[in-house]
Amino acid sequence: MDRLGVTVLGSTGSIGRNTLDVLGRHPDRYHVVALSGHGNASLLAEQCDHHDVRYAVISDATKAGELQSALDALGCQAEVLAGSEALSEVVGLDETDIVMAAIVGAAGLEPTLRAVQAGKRLLLANKESMVIAGELFRKAAADHGTTIIPVDSEHNALFQVLPHNFEAGLENAGVEQLILTASGGPFLHSDRKELEAITPEQACKHPNWSMGRKISVDSATLMNKGLEVIEARWLFNARPGQISVIVHPQSIIHSMVSYRDGSVLAQLGVPDMRTPIACALAWPQRIEAGVKRLNLSEIHQLEFYQPDIERFPALGLAFDVLESGGNAPVIFNAANEIAVEAFLGERIGFLQIPSVVSATLDKCEAGMIDSLDEVLEFDRLARNTATRIVEALI
Ligand code: NAD
Ligand code: MG
Repeated sequence: MDRLGVTVLGSTGSIGRNTLDVLGRHPDRYHVVALSGHGNASLLAEQCDHHDVRYAVISDATKAGELQSALDALGCQAEVLAGSEALSEVVGLDETDIVMAAIVGAAGLEPTLRAVQAGKRLLLANKESMVIAGELFRKAAADHGTTIIPVDSEHNALFQVLPHNFEAGLENAGVEQLILTASGGPFLHSDRKELEAITPEQACKHPNWSMGRKISVDSATLMNKGLEVIEARWLFNARPGQISVIVHPQSIIHSMVSYRDGSVLAQLGVPDMRTPIACALAWPQRIEAGVKRLNLSEIHQLEFYQPDIERFPALGLAFDVLESGGNAPVIFNAANEIAVEAFLGERIGFLQIPSVVSATLDKCEAGMIDSLDEVLEFDRLARNTATRIVEALI
């Protein structure tokens, strides 16, 4: 079998590192074409050296010299490409068969969409791209015959338990509900007073998953689940009323699909992102992922609760945004990115994150989206508005 070429966008992050771990277990199946990072030039250089990569992409162009020196010190021959345009360049290369989109936030949109337009198999971790440009992704995938395989654990679970013809319509396939599970984050049982005082360090300590800082905060506010509801709408062409959320603190069931005949199909496993990553890489085959096996008799109990939208308003906002459609998901996501950054910089409190998002949605004008330029423009406007709202709070 010819080895498949893989390009990993955001290889220095949590998903990126887990992806390289899985790829490293299968040198007979995959070779790594290009890796990208934004800040951590020394880690990127080490990764390029270890995986014998052709191109090392540093999206923050000011770090290109640092990357070159780090590669030279290792004796690594990878060619340095710098700047965000280089991301789109490497996904389009002939040698790239598979693209892992693991950049965090809307910054990942352009290269991720480009991968679909280039007809590459897209492994999608960068959920924010799908949230803000879902319609463009659906259209591009149809036009270019691209397979998009979700890496987000919930969506990967849904992908595994949905019938293969789900693209023809969930209704036709007898699907009633897509049920996303949510761990509830580290503050599932905290009251309002405790939520008010949460620090960035506390918010970044997730009970079940080890992740990047932005998604850790999103998990704590339930914004992550909100983004995932919108992500599911586009990935599976679901109606808003077909998606629901249930809190499941053990994170063993990664999501479920309920069918017309009363069947409910779930995907289970220990919480380790290498499972969905390996699934997406090899689909429809299965490869070893280095993951601990699930032993239910050690776990004893699986619990389920209704999410509390009073304490975690971000989830309620996401369902409103889903109903509104148009540019609402772009505003929702952009405001959240600004608010999370302000929270991590200790400029606003934990409970102010959903308030900033809600106020930004109120302030920005509703509009429709037909093109990437429109997405980028609404994203820019919403970031400006959210920044002003944050400044007024300080
Ligand atoms: P992370 O912060 O650990 O890594 C982010 C990566 O993106 C890094 O390589 C970083 O260098 C790069 N990056 C940051 N800003 C950039 C910019 N402006 N331009 C280009 N590259 C930039 O994040 P993560 O936890 O690996 O998450 C990555 C994506 O995967 C997110 O969209 C997240 O929601 C999604 N996801 C993560 C997990 C998880 O377990 N970590 C699970 C499901 C989905
Ligand atoms: Mg998830």
